[in-house]
Amino acid sequence: MRPQILFPLFASVEALPKVGPARAKLLAKLGLSSVVDLLWHRPVGLVEHRARGSIAETVPGESAALRVTVEEHRAPENPRHPWRVRVRDASGFLHLIFFHAKGDYLAKLLPVGGERVVAGKIEAYGVEKQMPHPDFIGAPESFSTATAPQPVYPMTAGITPKVLAGLIETALSRVMDLPEWADQSLVKQRNWPVWAEAVRALHHPKADAELQPTNPARQRLAYDEILANQMALLLLREHHKRLTGRPLVAAAHSCGALRAKLRAALPFALTRAQEQALLEIDADLASDRRMLRLLQGDVGSGKTVVALLTLAVAIEEGAQGALMAPTEILARQHLETIQPLADAVGLRVAVLTGRDKGKPREALLASLAAGEIDLLIGTHAVFQEDVVFKDLAVAVIDEQHRFGVHQRLALAHKGRGVDVLVMTATPIPRSLALTAYGDLDISRLTEKPPGRKPIDTRALPLERLEEVVFAVGRAIQRDARVYWVCPLVEESELVDLAAATDRAAALEQVFGPGVVGLVHGRLKAAEKDAAIAAFARGNLKILVATTVIEVGINVPEATIMVIEHAERYGLAQLHQLRGRVGRGGDRSTCLLLYQAPLGEVAKSRLKILRESEDGFRIAEEDLRLRGSGEVLGTKQSGLPGFKLCDPVQQEDLLLTARADAQNLLSRDPELDSERGQAMRILLYLFERDAAARFLRAG
Ligand code: ADP
Ligand code: MG
Repeated sequence: MRPQILFPLFASVEALPKVGPARAKLLAKLGLSSVVDLLWHRPVGLVEHRARGSIAETVPGESAALRVTVEEHRAPENPRHPWRVRVRDASGFLHLIFFHAKGDYLAKLLPVGGERVVAGKIEAYGVEKQMPHPDFIGAPESFSTATAPQPVYPMTAGITPKVLAGLIETALSRVMDLPEWADQSLVKQRNWPVWAEAVRALHHPKADAELQPTNPARQRLAYDEILANQMALLLLREHHKRLTGRPLVAAAHSCGALRAKLRAALPFALTRAQEQALLEIDADLASDRRMLRLLQGDVGSGKTVVALLTLAVAIEEGAQGALMAPTEILARQHLETIQPLADAVGLRVAVLTGRDKGKPREALLASLAAGEIDLLIGTHAVFQEDVVFKDLAVAVIDEQHRFGVHQRLALAHKGRGVDVLVMTATPIPRSLALTAYGDLDISRLTEKPPGRKPIDTRALPLERLEEVVFAVGRAIQRDARVYWVCPLVEESELVDLAAATDRAAALEQVFGPGVVGLVHGRLKAAEKDAAIAAFARGNLKILVATTVIEVGINVPEATIMVIEHAERYGLAQLHQLRGRVGRGGDRSTCLLLYQAPLGEVAKSRLKILRESEDGFRIAEEDLRLRGSGEVLGTKQSGLPGFKLCDPVQQEDLLLTARADAQNLLSRDPELDSERGQAMRILLYLFERDAAARFLRAG
């Protein structure tokens, strides 16, 4: 449970004065729903109102502070017009402009004949000057307050800077002293303020330098956030490992009979990287702690085989295995890859997706519960409660970033001491791997199977579309298979779809009926599968697609990838798309069609792609071009985003926090000590409640 001391910080913004449901809704747009969210809402700049001696001295466009006398209020003739207040000094006059104003409120704030200090942006209105929505209105003696630098916050329409600043001040007034969770010597060495001071300093910058990430207060808060992240991940990992695992003995011999048979049935030898990953996995399987390992490998590096050989260990011991894919297409594709091998060695495999319903589903579940299925391949459907294994021992989760952490745990509960292997093709750099997957051990497939020919990647302006169509025509006469990916238009699936449909129709005009297929997110799973299957068999030569083909589709015969409007995609996404070709023995080509003129970033992206097929290099470059937030696609992944810290830019903080968390946990695994208790508070402060719950109540 959240410690009582933190309660004031977790009150809803609606509980604050001047916030009703309407304002709360606007605040939600900024991600501000509780007091603590307000505390984390960082200023992005500073404005300073320049002290001006008279209205005549002000310049339109500048922010100025002035002493004025209120002369007249003019109410609007209709509600869309602003309330206007005329103020003057010896040099001239100025209008203060208020939209949606309450007249009686303004009359009190700016009484006619009264002297006031006003500060805000000066605008020209014809030959007159005006100041719309002053940032500051105060008594004559408040001039120095008006000219003090003010923080500028990320804003949303409907909330004025003043209101937001007021709310943040209210939030700051609730800040309490908290016990120190950070390592004292570190705090001293870095000259960090204590937490409460750091939060106050964050919102009261006095100079631009204080807005930089190197500012001690900002460093401290960034550190706190990442320390909470690392501690949470370590606790999760400890929890998972402590649940008794089961030693899978076949793994200790590294080559049980079943695995040996499977290896013999493979049409190729494993790469060194695959062998190495299996050694690491076997050590986990053989131990009596649970496996929780991430298998990271670029597209085409051969993760599926490693998964199958891992699962074979469980099955050899008479237990069961599960292989989870993020989409129906991928689940069925895994089945297709695995089925022939399974048949060769007598493995009983079944597939379960959301499509399976009624009697057949019941029958499948019955044989699963009876242990008549050795390996279940499936989608999210496997997480359903009525899916019961007789004895699940190993689970492999493909493309982890589409599943959440809690799902990983849910799966672990479907068996006894389930060992979990998570596979991802997203070659995230080390710093991000630590923050996102810090709770996992990591194996990496750093080499690709031999015989892969480099993909010839070219960038062409869209004007040369006709040439591309012509080249595609020649290629399909040689029986090549072509992917044609259609533009990603903003976030709208409907518009994407129209573009893909048009392209498919246009290509069909050129190449005739029966050659071009179309897949997109709105198709029923069966229709999607049918199109992809026809493409894989070679009945269809061209597969027009929206990005549904991004993840994992494997048709080794496909050798040409055309990507329209390549400039609209991120680097990692282009790399994933390109990875759909170059999977067979033949030379492959990737054509990146772009809309000229290209912006700088888009230009760099296409250049990197032409130069490199190395997923790790591409990921690093991607990060450099985009910043860390987007790379993981935090939204889809359900991974908590960082508010105060950029783990990539601040990798030193990340590594320090990790070591610090490990240190403390090794001395105080239940966080019972004084510092441990403080650390518990930190976990709740950064809303890592789930991780804190693994601790004994203290
Ligand atoms: P990914 O890591 O992207 O999931 P896959 O497991 O789908 O890669 O493998 C891509 C292709 O490479 C498949 O056709 C697979 O059969 C093949 N493959 C895997 N390992 C090897 C290997 N050691 N030698 C040759 N081909 C391999
Ligand atoms: Mg795969």
